[in-house]
Amino acid sequence: MAHRITLIAGDGIGPEVAQAARLVLEATGVPIEWEERLAGVRALEAEGELLPRATLAAIRASRVALKGPITTPVGGGFRSVNVALRQELDLFAAVRPARALPGVPIRHPAVDLVIVRENTEDLYQGIEYEAGAPATRTLAEELRALGGYELRPDAGVTIKPISVSGTRRIVRFAFEYARANRRRRVTVVHKAPILRTSDGLFLATAREQAAEYPDVDWDEIQVDHLSSRLVRDPSGFDVLVLPNLYGDILSDLAAGLVGGLGLIPGANIGWEYAVFEPVHGSAPDIAGRGLANPIAMILSGAMLLAHVGELEAAARVRAGVDAVLADGSVRTPDLGGTATTDELARAIEARVRGT
Ligand code: ATP
Repeated sequence: MAHRITLIAGDGIGPEVAQAARLVLEATGVPIEWEERLAGVRALEAEGELLPRATLAAIRASRVALKGPITTPVGGGFRSVNVALRQELDLFAAVRPARALPGVPIRHPAVDLVIVRENTEDLYQGIEYEAGAPATRTLAEELRALGGYELRPDAGVTIKPISVSGTRRIVRFAFEYARANRRRRVTVVHKAPILRTSDGLFLATAREQAAEYPDVDWDEIQVDHLSSRLVRDPSGFDVLVLPNLYGDILSDLAAGLVGGLGLIPGANIGWEYAVFEPVHGSAPDIAGRGLANPIAMILSGAMLLAHVGELEAAARVRAGVDAVLADGSVRTPDLGGTATTDELARAIEARVRGT
């Protein structure tokens, strides 16, 4: 039976990389029934909303989606579509593997990290108080009454909630992932000595959960120390589990370690639904010109195939990407070449068909 997959091309370079991924996934021979839906600026223009109901309904029906990057228009009070999708579908785990790829020159050749980022709370929960707004003045009064805290009258505030339940599920997810994928170690990342009630709770809860996985090696590190260690020598790290904001920042750092944003795939996973998307954004500076590297989107497609049980096809897609990169003659400009998005996609497609 064909796998039903919702395809959201997205904005900017999204349609180009989505087309590339579709081509390569179809080359595996896995039967796929694509359902194309809109989200982002293209949806706003066509249907009047950034995240149309029909798009959400399609993902709920197919349970899996492959999604390109989406631009949230600046101003106009729009909520980020990416954040909204994660919250609506309760996609609590973002998984971002960053491994050194053949033929891509990098400083540390032994990088093989998996970032597991909590996706629904922390500073991204969307609890914002604008500087000078009446609600912010009320908040300031409450804080003064509750704890004697003094907010400056011109301060804006973003709240950082971290819960036991939210932490439990992301830490369990990271340990289960490590076990299922035979990874060496889970590292719990935090800033607990300073952010005692949020990161402190994250760390305490993570320690409790870790005790339930005696077969998985684990340790803990503060996020600032981790940043410096990753830049110096990332080879000692494996699976990293982090609160939302640190996960966001370190995903880009990890992308830098392995050769750039055009190479890092991602998955947003919940108990019921999963949305696969590259870590990079819509890159408006290069959109529509065939300059985008489609590999991040293609590898996101490979993660999707593995998620729906097509492990052998997923491995073939990864091998196709590796083979083309190792060969080195077809590369997009971000990797120092002159090939177009479509040329790179077709080279990978040919490798996948030929295996
Ligand atoms: P957004 O606001 O949607 O995150 P952005 O342009 O701020 O978009 P990204 O799109 O993530 O951020 O990327 C930053 C830059 O990295 C881009 O402007 C582009 O030059 C480069 N880049 C990102 N993705 C790719 C890609 N797939 N191929 C080539 N270059 C890329």
